[in-house]
Amino acid sequence: MRALRFHGREDLRLDTIPTDECGPTEVRIKVGYCGICGSDIHEYLGGPILAPQHGEKHPYNGAELPVTMGHEMAGTITEVGKEVKNFSVGQKVAVIPAMDDRHYGLDPCRMCSLGKRNICKRTAYYGLSAPVGGFADEIVVSHHAVLPLPDGMSLKLGALCEPIAVAWHMVRAAGMVEGDNCVVLGAGPIGLALLLVLKSKKARKIIVSEVTASRAEAAKQFGADLVVNPLDSDSTSGDPVVKAAHDLMGEGADISFDASGIQATLNTAIACVRPAGTVFNVAIHEKPLSINLNDLTMTEKKLTGGICYTREDFEGASQLVASNTEEAEKMITSITALDDIVKGGFLELINNKANHVKILIEINKE
Ligand SMILES: [Zn+2]
Repeated sequence: MRALRFHGREDLRLDTIPTDECGPTEVRIKVGYCGICGSDIHEYLGGPILAPQHGEKHPYNGAELPVTMGHEMAGTITEVGKEVKNFSVGQKVAVIPAMDDRHYGLDPCRMCSLGKRNICKRTAYYGLSAPVGGFADEIVVSHHAVLPLPDGMSLKLGALCEPIAVAWHMVRAAGMVEGDNCVVLGAGPIGLALLLVLKSKKARKIIVSEVTASRAEAAKQFGADLVVNPLDSDSTSGDPVVKAAHDLMGEGADISFDASGIQATLNTAIACVRPAGTVFNVAIHEKPLSINLNDLTMTEKKLTGGICYTREDFEGASQLVASNTEEAEKMITSITALDDIVKGGFLELINNKANHVKILIEINKE
C-alpha cells in the first residue's frame, strides 16, 4: 500500500509498504480522507518532535522512523479481529488517534483510571508516534480507537471530527457553560473549531482576535460577534481586544482561549477576562513565556490548559459536525490526492497559510 512516511526533517516520502496484519482486537480501515494538522507541519519543518527520535523506539508501541503520518482520518472498516464484537465490515468510522494504556494491553495508570485518558502517562498518537498512520491506503488500529460516524455522515466530514474534538475538549475542560462570554485568540483551524463549539454550546458573545484578513473573514463567517485586529491600536486606547471585551462583556470575558501561543496573545488572554475568569491555553508553545502572577493573584483569575480529547469529546464533536454540516464543510479549503500530498498539501499549507483552514487528503474515493 501507499504510505506517506516521515523519514526526518523535511523528508517525507510516499513509500510502498506491506499492509499490516489485523490482530484479534484490531480493526482494519480503508482510509477515505485524512486532514493535515498544524502538528504535522511542525513535525515536517522541525521534527522529529512527537515522532520517534533517530535510532530510538517508542517504549510501548515500538514505533521507529520512518513513521507513517496522518491522524485526522475517516474511512470504512474492511476487516475486524476475531475478538472484536461491536464493529462490522462496511461501517464508516473515524479514528481516535490518542493511544493510552488499553492500546498496549496494560493496566490503567492513575490518569486513565480517573477517566483522563488524554493525559495517560504512556500516551502516543497514531500518525505521529505509532507504527501506523492515516496518510496510507489502509490502517490497522486497536478497536479502542474506532468511533462509528453518525448515520449518513460523509468520510470528508468524518475527517473533521478530530480537530473539532480538540476544540470540544478545550471548551469542556474550561468549564464553559451556556451564556458565557468568550474571547478566542487566533482564527486558525482550532480557533475556528472553538467558535463552532462555543456557538453550539450557546455562548452569549464571542470576540475573536486575528491579524490575517482572510482568517478574520472566516471568523465572521463562523459566527463571531466581533472580530478584532489586535494590531489596530493607537497608543492611548491600549489593547483593542481587551477594550472590546470590556465594551461588549461588562467586566471582561468569562473565558479566554489562547489558540496562538505567543507572548502578546497570552498577555491579552489574561487581561481580557473578568476577575475570577478562566484563561485557557490551547496552543503548543515553542519557548517559555513570562507572566506576572499578580495578574492572577489579585483578581483570582485561573490559568490552565488542555490537550487532545477523550472518546466523550469525539462523540460530542461528531454530533456537532452531523448537525452543522454546512458550517463544518466551510473548514475544508482544499482537497488533494495522496500522490500530491507534499506539494499540494504540506508545502501549500506552509506557503499559502492564509488561504487555508483545513486541507484534506483524498486517499480512497468513497
Ligand atoms: Zn494511562
